[in-house]
Amino acid sequence: MEKYGIPQLSTGDMLREAVRNGTEVGLSAKRFMDAGALVPDEVVIGVVRERFNRDDAKRGFILDGYPRTIPQAQALAHITTLDMVLRLTASDQTIVERLSGRRLGEDGTIYHVTNFPPPAGVKVTQRDDDKQDAIVERLAVCKRQTAPLADYYRKSGLLREVTADKPLTVDQILANCIREIETKGA
Ligand code: AMP
Repeated sequence: MEKYGIPQLSTGDMLREAVRNGTEVGLSAKRFMDAGALVPDEVVIGVVRERFNRDDAKRGFILDGYPRTIPQAQALAHITTLDMVLRLTASDQTIVERLSGRRLGEDGTIYHVTNFPPPAGVKVTQRDDDKQDAIVERLAVCKRQTAPLADYYRKSGLLREVTADKPLTVDQILANCIREIETKGA
């Protein structure tokens, strides 16, 4: 976001905000999110379509956490075009460690109990879906419903794979992402 001056559009953030605000979307999404399941396609597609009506995405955007199914990708193709798709790869073990250790500060800072511990006195919370049972379900859902998107975007020539496993740090993974973005069209 800082480097390119464009917004990050995260469907997870949009859905969590809808839950906090108690909107119709939030009410229908909450139980799926808490269980680590995907929110139904028609709900998420509606949220994304609405988000693209706002002006701030006209100069570009980083779409985060969407699409997660083939129907979502097909719907997206009617809403906008993509320059590339970044797929960050890491082992299941690394993913479980990162999710289960994630903590949220009140100001929105994302900490990790060992990789980026919150300073003493900072109050943190844990997402319900970062607890063990939900994480196991999220990984299974990812393999079943989201993994097929790799082939889908590989066929259209948009897919870029970025190594994001241990022991790489957030800064190193970001550098890998930027390298991929900058080699666009090379
Ligand atoms: P995230 O913050 O991206 O990890 O998303 C948190 C949760 O929100 C997911 O586990 C899903 O329940 C829901 N969610 C976010 N994005 C999507 C999406 N594209 N399709 C379906 N559900 C989603």
